Amino acid sequence: MRFKDKAALITGGGRGIGATTALMLLAEGANVGIVDVNEANMKKVSETAQARGYGLKTFVGDVSKKEQVESFMEAFVQTFGRIDILVNNAGIVINRPFFEKTAEDWMKTLQVNLIGVFLCAQAAARYMLRQKSGKIINISSIRGIEHCGREGVMDYSASKGAVINLTKTMAKELAPYINVNAVAPGHTLTEMTEPLPQEVKRSMIEGAYLKRMAQPEDIAKAILFMASDDANFITGQVLLVDGGFSLK
Ligand code: NAD
Repeated sequence: MRFKDKAALITGGGRGIGATTALMLLAEGANVGIVDVNEANMKKVSETAQARGYGLKTFVGDVSKKEQVESFMEAFVQTFGRIDILVNNAGIVINRPFFEKTAEDWMKTLQVNLIGVFLCAQAAARYMLRQKSGKIINISSIRGIEHCGREGVMDYSASKGAVINLTKTMAKELAPYINVNAVAPGHTLTEMTEPLPQEVKRSMIEGAYLKRMAQPEDIAKAILFMASDDANFITGQVLLVDGGFSLK
């Protein structure tokens, strides 16, 4: 029960890593809200939570739209009275080779994966500063690490690299009251990676020294660590959870 009475908001909580993180935080005593553009998916997560005996609050919203961010953040704080933990997890990926990649692909990806992180952090930090405490965890990616960008998703890789830079800058600007860290997952079995061809998945498994893709729980455990009191003296850091993929 590391998170008893803590209020945690997870963006992109409708499925995958975000949904798993929300359910694990609930199991450890947190008051949890998720935000997502997909209302139907959030309903499913909420039903799972209910079946396990927990109440989960859902907020429909797009992290890349400032007015929506301010409105769901206000609704969250009105519901729980505070915000202790923000997990900036919402993300998109558009697979298209270099010569087919468009400026629109870039704009969409940066709007959600980078500007979305900034907008949610800014809205949450206003409340956290008043409380004089808070933890922000930004979800980057192995693809955001210097030498690990991938063909076809250069915009995604750039956005996730920028999230690392943003994390370090925010850690300085929001100190000493707010810890800002990043978790960079390796290839994880979610609906984001499901459509990839088998040979790509095989190469992802081969590329990791631990010879498998991550389960969402592997990533959620690292997020919970960064959100917990065990990480109270850690800020501006990137925790790679990639089965050793980046060692190559
Ligand atoms: P996913 O696609 O399964 O889930 C992402 C969720 O974000 C979805 O529910 C989606 O509806 C929501 N979302 C998308 N755009 C949104 C927006 N504008 N506003 C609010 N919600 C929005 O993805 P996942 O695999 O669970 O990944 C979660 C995070 O981890 C992402 O940031 C992703 O880039 C990152 N990541 C994933 C992997 C992987 O292999 N799956 C690897 C590295 C990093």
